[in-house]
Amino acid sequence: MKRMRALAAVAFDLDDTLYPERDFVRSGYRAVAEWAETHLGLAAPIVQAELDALFAAGLRREVFNLWLEERGLDPARWVETMVAVYREHSPRISMFADAAALLEVLESHGVRRGVITEGYRAVQESKLRALGLAEAFEVVVIGGEEVRERWKPSRAPFEEWLSRMKVHAQESCYIGDDPAKDFRGAREVGMRTMRVRRAEGLHAQEEPPTPGDEPEVEVLDLDEAAHILLPGAA
Ligand SMILES: [Mg+2]
Repeated sequence: MKRMRALAAVAFDLDDTLYPERDFVRSGYRAVAEWAETHLGLAAPIVQAELDALFAAGLRREVFNLWLEERGLDPARWVETMVAVYREHSPRISMFADAAALLEVLESHGVRRGVITEGYRAVQESKLRALGLAEAFEVVVIGGEEVRERWKPSRAPFEEWLSRMKVHAQESCYIGDDPAKDFRGAREVGMRTMRVRRAEGLHAQEEPPTPGDEPEVEVLDLDEAAHILLPGAA
């Protein structure tokens, strides 16, 4: 991809590519901690610190269950509510500065832009709104909770994005951060692939599980991406 001719469009992953996913998690825990203060009579800052510590220890899906158990509370009674508070909170997140800069430089060079992401649909939509990106992209493909079989690494979301964009795979690039799911489907449909491996990213230490999952190129941040995508322009 040293000289990629006729770059027409770029599709971005959302979490940890355009904004720090850790900030979403922290903002969700803060909402849950405030809920716990109101409904369980616990001090919100302490609850937030406890949830943060579990996340920092590498726990993900089990955080609320474990926290409830450690607090002597019944997970069966509370966990669903906590998950709902987490998912429905208004996230306090903002874009990586280099992501905002890359979107601008792509726009100024007439490169079309989109997003391919997945997760709970309402959550992904609320993240885009919080980032001020609700209207920023031509085509946003969100694989919601009802279509898990179409989530990356499936090629389905990439095919959908290309077809809605009416753009050729070979003149498009997908930029993501997760080697376990971001690149295989994109490669299979013929898109260029770029991994942004930020030092603080949640997947920074992970390697592609198979050769088919390897990105074509890897960058440390999106400033470097701009130089590769638009040589001489950024
Ligand atoms: Mg990601």
